[in-house]
Amino acid sequence: MSGTFLGMPGNFPENAAKAVQDSQLRYNLRKATHTIRGKRANVVGELPDWTELRAAGKAIKDETLRHLDRYLIQLEEAVTRAGGHVHWARDAAEANRIVADLVKATGESEVVKVKSMATQEIELNEALAEQGITAYETDLAELIVQLGDDFPSHILVPAIHRNRAEIREIFLDKMPETPPGLTDEPAALAEAARLHLRERFLRSKVAISGANFMVAETGTLVVLESEGNGRMCLTLPETLISVVGIEKLVPAWRDLEVFLQLLPRSSTGERMNPYTSMWTGAVEGQDFHLVLLDNGRTGVLADEVGRQALRCIRCSACLNVCPVYERAGGHAYGSVYPGPIGAILTPQLRGMSSDLDASLPYASSLCGACYEVCPVAIDIPEVLVHLRGKAPHNPAERAGMRVAGWILDDSVRLGKAQRLATRFRKLVPKRLPGPLSAWTDTRDLPDIPEESFRDWWERHERP
Ligand code: SF4
Repeated sequence: MSGTFLGMPGNFPENAAKAVQDSQLRYNLRKATHTIRGKRANVVGELPDWTELRAAGKAIKDETLRHLDRYLIQLEEAVTRAGGHVHWARDAAEANRIVADLVKATGESEVVKVKSMATQEIELNEALAEQGITAYETDLAELIVQLGDDFPSHILVPAIHRNRAEIREIFLDKMPETPPGLTDEPAALAEAARLHLRERFLRSKVAISGANFMVAETGTLVVLESEGNGRMCLTLPETLISVVGIEKLVPAWRDLEVFLQLLPRSSTGERMNPYTSMWTGAVEGQDFHLVLLDNGRTGVLADEVGRQALRCIRCSACLNVCPVYERAGGHAYGSVYPGPIGAILTPQLRGMSSDLDASLPYASSLCGACYEVCPVAIDIPEVLVHLRGKAPHNPAERAGMRVAGWILDDSVRLGKAQRLATRFRKLVPKRLPGPLSAWTDTRDLPDIPEESFRDWWERHERP
């Protein structure tokens, strides 16, 4: 049973080329993203101070990241004071080991989970399975993905690539208690999942969650969800373990005022979030553990341009407006973080040593729609271009760029090169050969004019 996307073998263009052949996938994605996109635009348009809210969200996150060390210590002290236990995890392996040890210490072999990107990022379900612990997803979409032995393809709606008929088939196949007469009406599907999950909630002694926000001044964790499954997981079990990325901090309680407006409107297109759970330390005798996850985040923080990706509040608005995501779908990105945010976050968290990760900064048309809708004003196109500069290039391309740079650096050299190109323009091929062919595989080289603009100017303007 897999709830985590472990990566596709190919690079993004190869994966996307396969995905666009799937007309059902394209139909599902278009329908879902356009619906959410429309809802978001309506509720954002209602707020006269959206621009100010967005600026405030950006400023609060930047302030937090600038003093992250100080705020993290403050958070640790507050959580510990409130009876919780704080653990620090450098990477995925350390986080998984901490969580597995905590679960084993309870004597349990099953856990229920609240939807969490951080635990997918570290492949926690698989790590727990290796230790004989079964993790049950309780978010409806995550449940569909897990039962279908599938991979999530959207941050907010992990089963966005599935339609109702497909979900009905999965339920009939994998949930034995499902009545055979199950229809594909949303209410019937939700009821079947509810019956399936209810027994799990009542039985489980350990729950694992992430968090949308952590408040440094009070040590409070905040989870936003729409189904109530999160509330069940957070309150019923005797032990709660929350795995949270270190960038999820906000300094003060009052900062939530901004994010609790920005997030629901940007993600589900709702004015207010249906279930917002907040807790501080160990509540009503529940044993509480907070695992603070780095896993490459301090490396991202060190990059002056790339660090803005850590402002992300995982609303998924950038996915829903992205023309590339809409056609290629989430699986092509080979990461739990698909779409525009995935194209800038994954290569920074994982590095660009694999073909897939090195291709992600190019998974964009740079149209800028993602930046327009981002509630914390992450300039995704700027980071994409920055990462393209850092991505590995083949030697022929590097040499070509060096020569181009040398010529463009000097007006005399540029004039001579233009005259030379004009003279031999008939010999210039429409397609570049060998390793440079990627530049012209999908477009022709522009025609070289008979005379350069500089020479024309010289002829006409010089007395
Ligand atoms: S980058 Fe911005 S729009 Fe995209 S998920 Fe993150 S916060 Fe939302």
